[in-house]
Amino acid sequence: MSVYPAALAPSRAVVPAAPSASSAELPVLGRDVRVPVLSGELPYAALDYAASAPALQRVWDDVAAYLPYYGSVHRGAGYLSQLSTELFEASRATVAAFLGCRDGDQVVFTRSTTDSLNLLAAVLPAGTRVFVFETEHHAALLPWERRPDVTVTYLDAPRSPREAVGVLEAALATRGDDGPALVCVTGASNVTGEVWPVRELAAAAHRHGARIALDAAQLAPHRPVSVTDLGVDWVAFSGHKLYAPFGAGVLAGRADWLTEAEPYLAGGGASRTVARRAGGGIDVAWHTSAARHEAGSPNVVGAHAIASACKALTEAGFGALVAREERLLGRLREGLAAIPAVTVLSLFGEDSDRVGVLSFTVAGQDSSAFARELSARYGIGVRDGLFCAHPLVRTLLGTDRDEPAGCHEPADGVPAGSPLHAIRVSFGAG
Ligand code: PLP
Repeated sequence: MSVYPAALAPSRAVVPAAPSASSAELPVLGRDVRVPVLSGELPYAALDYAASAPALQRVWDDVAAYLPYYGSVHRGAGYLSQLSTELFEASRATVAAFLGCRDGDQVVFTRSTTDSLNLLAAVLPAGTRVFVFETEHHAALLPWERRPDVTVTYLDAPRSPREAVGVLEAALATRGDDGPALVCVTGASNVTGEVWPVRELAAAAHRHGARIALDAAQLAPHRPVSVTDLGVDWVAFSGHKLYAPFGAGVLAGRADWLTEAEPYLAGGGASRTVARRAGGGIDVAWHTSAARHEAGSPNVVGAHAIASACKALTEAGFGALVAREERLLGRLREGLAAIPAVTVLSLFGEDSDRVGVLSFTVAGQDSSAFARELSARYGIGVRDGLFCAHPLVRTLLGTDRDEPAGCHEPADGVPAGSPLHAIRVSFGAG
């Protein structure tokens, strides 16, 4: 509770509010950046939003307005500490509204989607059965196996949204008990940009008594994500892909498993009371709120940046953003279709619903060399590789599972002309 009368509540009294975005515009930073190329200098074409999107101008303005005032959260009586605490909790409420959270849901601020899904893995009840498609980004594919007391079922890559639901239904039907179960799915692929049938998958999970977590790292920047509308139990996303690149992420959803589990990190902020136990040891009472999993001084700037992006996207509405992306996607596809050597990667087929993310290969070209060439000659920034989704890209390319490959760097020893990697183009607001 603030000690200030409402009219003088710190955040309202000090931090100037940035102007609202108009519905047609969501300007991003860096549009004037020029980069060196072989022929001199060119404007940078940022086409790697799926890795990290540029900040919205609005986010920059909001963060800049706050920076002179930041202080410790939940830790001080001073004005700036009070203000920062208010802003941090107001950011939580903004994110909860953005995600359509239900009464009782928690919003935990994390470092990223990877951190959020590792947190969820850490709080699974012992014996949970996890179901995950092999097509997931590694952040959603790998955290579960680290728990020796849960079992993971990897589901084969489906070739249509309908097949995805069928594959999940079939796997859940074999579960044969009513112990805890979790399905983790992506909202939109970071490789193909294809949108997954989240609502239908959530209904299937619930029909079989399982819970479902949504990896919304690629969906949230492009489409509205509501836990209520989609019927998912948790959602995870990263600020730096949502035009708020200040090192924060979110895990939002049902409170029970979060509250029943040990804190993700042990330390100040997560603990309510700590006392020496008579006869040795320490007694700790942990918070039951989101703070339970936010030990240490929270990243209030990151949380504020995410909240600012959520507000800007909500005020602008996704309509204009989706229309812009579809226009760009149409032009890109038309251009690529005119080049016979190009193959666009797709799991669900030509007509699938996509966000502004698309990967392709060029016959006879090494994707890494091709991507470097785009940068060196034209100032175009794209990504190449396996996009931290090795099983998916290998399925799409039809390559052997044992080929060497890196997540961030092209593999050593990949012969020129080998389509072991793909090139990804991604965009959004701006
Ligand atoms: N999930 C998907 C679909 C992604 O595209 C990414 C990042 O590319 C992640 C999870 C991991 O996000 P972060 O690196 O911010 O943790």
